[in-house]
Amino acid sequence: MAGERYFVGLDVGGTTMKCAVVNDHGHPLSAPAVMDTHPERGQDAGLETMCETIRRAVAAANLTLDDVTAIGVATPGLMDIKAGLILDPPNLKPWKNVPVRDHIKGVFKKPTAYQNDANAAAYGEFWVGAAQEAKSMVLFTLGTGVGGGIIINDVIIEGEHSHGGELGHLRIDTPDRGRICGCGARGCLEAYASATNVVRRAREDMAAYRGTTKMRQYYTANDDVFTARVIFDLAMGGDELAIRVVDDTAYYLALGASALISTVDPDMIVFGGGMVGAGERFRSLIDGHVKRLGLTYPTKSVKITFASLGSDAGFIGAAGCARLLVQQAKPA
Ligand SMILES: [Zn+2]
Repeated sequence: MAGERYFVGLDVGGTTMKCAVVNDHGHPLSAPAVMDTHPERGQDAGLETMCETIRRAVAAANLTLDDVTAIGVATPGLMDIKAGLILDPPNLKPWKNVPVRDHIKGVFKKPTAYQNDANAAAYGEFWVGAAQEAKSMVLFTLGTGVGGGIIINDVIIEGEHSHGGELGHLRIDTPDRGRICGCGARGCLEAYASATNVVRRAREDMAAYRGTTKMRQYYTANDDVFTARVIFDLAMGGDELAIRVVDDTAYYLALGASALISTVDPDMIVFGGGMVGAGERFRSLIDGHVKRLGLTYPTKSVKITFASLGSDAGFIGAAGCARLLVQQAKPA
């Protein structure tokens, strides 16, 4: 189609990478090409897999590279966004100082955008997902950790040191007595509300609980069986202790959301990731706590909602970043 522009979005995770070609309206032209990341095979192999995933995505869209306007790549932190470098993310060991952006740009000879994966997911939701009507939004993604992204009027708040919107490490408890986070600090939101820590809190609550709870039948089982999903399902089924764990989770997330409402005053706060399946009851619990805890005026109108793009948000958002890059490029 004459004039139609196409953007490649690649989302690199610790386990798999996903890539698709997305049109100017944010619609992927095919199901994503997915390849295993295998970080243990080293960064050169990793870069080659990224290129191969991009080639497969372009082929799956029935296009050639000539049709592609720009490429966007999203990776987990730690990173240097301005330099286009993966530094040394814990889930991409042993990679270190990988020049992702320049490598992809050199191989494909296309303008290449580079972004943090949670920021890219936030931009995906902002562009064509749950927050497409919003002018400003904050995303919390709930998984092994808690990720975050802040978008204000089409600008991704990446920060001067590439770690703006690192909402998992927002302090919701004091550094003296708070729960210990994976980052080494105490009291971070992630230490309470990531899927991993929901399970941990549930195990602790269960040890102190004298009543009957169906959670106990999972107690001796390993972490593959006793998941946040199971806890949310049991809560939906009316299990009293599971309900308490879920309610506490909503409360902790609301503490984080309230801090962001006071900082950003966004149109919308979006929750994404595994716990989105927890449904309207969980959403309205968070909403209720936010309305109670937050500054009265902005919290009255902020919308609390769930993400709508699922795991596609990352590559769609990465493609959106590629589109932003060429839009923002000044004419030569
Ligand atoms: Zn932390």
